[in-house]
Amino acid sequence: MADTDAMPAAFLGHGNPMNALEHNRYTEAWRSFGASVPRPRAVVVVSAHWYINATAVTAMRTPRTIHDFFGFPQELFAVTYPAPGAPEVAEEVAEVVKPHWVGLDHDSWGLDHGTWSVLCHVFPAADVPVVQLSINALQPLEHHFELGRQLAPLVARGVLVVGSGNIVHNLRRIDWGRPDAAYDWARRFDDAARDAMGDDPARVLTLAGHPDFAAAVPTPDHFLPLVYIAGLADASARRPHALVDGYAMGSLSMTSYVVGSAGSAVVTDPDPAPALPDTVPPDETNL
Ligand code: ZN
Repeated sequence: MADTDAMPAAFLGHGNPMNALEHNRYTEAWRSFGASVPRPRAVVVVSAHWYINATAVTAMRTPRTIHDFFGFPQELFAVTYPAPGAPEVAEEVAEVVKPHWVGLDHDSWGLDHGTWSVLCHVFPAADVPVVQLSINALQPLEHHFELGRQLAPLVARGVLVVGSGNIVHNLRRIDWGRPDAAYDWARRFDDAARDAMGDDPARVLTLAGHPDFAAAVPTPDHFLPLVYIAGLADASARRPHALVDGYAMGSLSMTSYVVGSAGSAVVTDPDPAPALPDTVPPDETNL
């Protein structure tokens, strides 16, 4: 039987959806994390890519794999992640966050690439039930921190809570030609987030006042999954540690955090790329 008291939680920086098909030091870190955790009853994923005007939780028995991007190779559209759903866990989520209301989604969403592009490495057999929790775009940071705190009781019930986003995520400034590089402001903001997470997860809320916040977090969707995990860490009095760190394409941070003892050795980039000049490429996509 799994040691459910020791169930960790994690924020995973998912980056490019192609990570689903690749093997690199990020995907290896996700795999080693999955191999080190007690087998969960279910995974609850707060994905950056289900950012809507309400809080909802997937409650279907068989969630579909959603390919919510464009302009990627056909082999990525062929990926499926056939993990079962967990309607009973969805109801538990709705219960623990009361008096906040969470809608049970029986037929709308499923598993988007924020979830499956990382879980296909964390649990490659797709045999652990998964539910997704949406991010309510109408609510402030403090609300999401509080919801993260309210999810903490699920940890003791053997549920693995995962936030999937990117701490620094500015698609307007992506430089596709520099896969491992970072702008100075991206490094500064990622460092500030690491200081906050390692010191007092509640300090994540103060990052909204950081001078590089507007560049690093032009929209909150990819940052907010971190806020949930910070809230959960705060409620369970467990200090997060970095699982892996690094940058992608100038304006993405790939840093991931674990709350708890799993995956305890941080995997730092042995040969970080030099800082990029601060240019503004025009194209957007959906990473
Ligand atoms: Zn994304």
